[in-house]
Amino acid sequence: MNNDNSLPQIVSFANAYLKFEFGISPTLSSYMLYDDEKWQSLITAGKLPNGTEGFYLPRTNVAYLASMSPFLVLNLYHEFHGHGLFFEKSLLGREMAEKDRKLAEMEKEIIGLDSLSDGILKLDNKHPLFPKYLEVRRNLEGINSHSYKVVEGFAVWMEHFLSKKFNKEGLFFEKQREMKKRFKEKYKISEEGFRKFMKFENDMGKHWLMYQLGFPKKYTDEILVELLERYYKNRFGNIVFALLYDEKPDSDIDLFVVSNDRSHSYYNGWLDIFHLQIDEFIKRTGLFDIGVTDPLFTGRVVFGDSAIVEGFKRKVLDAEITQDAINYNIKRARERKEIAKKYGHRTREHENTSVCSHTYLMNAKELKKGKKLLIQADLRQKYGF
Ligand SMILES: [Zn+2]
Repeated sequence: MNNDNSLPQIVSFANAYLKFEFGISPTLSSYMLYDDEKWQSLITAGKLPNGTEGFYLPRTNVAYLASMSPFLVLNLYHEFHGHGLFFEKSLLGREMAEKDRKLAEMEKEIIGLDSLSDGILKLDNKHPLFPKYLEVRRNLEGINSHSYKVVEGFAVWMEHFLSKKFNKEGLFFEKQREMKKRFKEKYKISEEGFRKFMKFENDMGKHWLMYQLGFPKKYTDEILVELLERYYKNRFGNIVFALLYDEKPDSDIDLFVVSNDRSHSYYNGWLDIFHLQIDEFIKRTGLFDIGVTDPLFTGRVVFGDSAIVEGFKRKVLDAEITQDAINYNIKRARERKEIAKKYGHRTREHENTSVCSHTYLMNAKELKKGKKLLIQADLRQKYGF
C-alpha cells in the first residue's frame, strides 16, 4: 500500500505541519527502510522483540523502519517525528541522546570500530574503559526505564497528532489494537503514556504540552494568549491586559498580567506570570515601584487594549514624585535585603533578591533627585551592577 517514493513527501508534509504548529521539526534525523529479510536479521541482532516494525536510535539519529508494514506511515510518524523530535529537541531527550552518544563513543574505543555502532556488541570486559562504560550504561538504562512512559507516550501522541491531520486516524486506532494484541503487557505502558498526553493536551493545550517537555518555545502572541486562557480558565475574562517582557531566546516566558482578580504570581519552570490586581497595580505605579514600572515600560502588549496600557504609562510619566514614593522604594529595598539574608550566600535566590534590593535603593536615590528611570536596565547601567 505504500510506495517508497511517496515517503519523502509524507515526511516533508509532516515536517511543514510541525513547523507551522510548533516552529520546529526534526533536522538531524533520517530514516532507513528495510525489506523483510534484512529487517528480521536487524531485529534479531538488536535483540528486539519479534513483531517490532520500527525503532529509533538517538546515537545515530536514525529511524529504522520495516518497509513492508501496513502501518509504515504511522511507524514513520512514531519513530522519525515522535522519537526523532524528542531526542533532538526536548530537554530530557537531548540529555538521553548525549548519554547514548557517549556510550557509542566508548564502545567504539573498546572495540576499535571506526564508525558508530547500531547493534548490540560484545565488549571486552577487561578493557580499562569497561567500568566507566558500565556506569554510563546503567545510568542511561535507569533514565530509560524511568522515562519509558514519557518517551513512548510522546511518540504515540505525535503519531496520533499527525495521523489526525493527514486523515489516518482510523489506521492509527487499527494499529493500536494490533500492537496491544502483539505486545500485550508491554504495550500497556505506551498506551497509558499516550492517554496521559491526550488528557494533558485536552486540559492545557498542545503548546503547554510541548513546553512542559522542554521543547524550544517558538511562540506567537496567539500562543501566549492561549497559554493564559489555559492557565486562568474561567478567570481569563478578568484580565485587563497582559504584557510580554524580558524576552530572551531560550529563556522563560515572562508575562505581566493586570487583572481584576486578587494578586498572585505563578512559576512552573518555563512560564513566569507576574500577576497584579488592578488597584494594587495603580497604587504601585503611582509610587514608581521599579518592579512594576519596569515590565510596564519594557513589555509588549499581547492581550488587551494598547491604548489603556499607553494611558497607564502616561499617568506614570505625568505623576509627581512624592516623599511617599521615595520612602516606599527605600522600604522595598530593606524588605528585599532581609529576604536575601534568608537565602544562603551564592545561591541564585540570594543573588536575585540582593540585586532587586539594590535596584529599589538606586531607584529611591534617583527619585530623590527628581528623576524617573522606570526601567531596571537603565538603573543597572547607570550604577554599574
Ligand atoms: Zn516508540
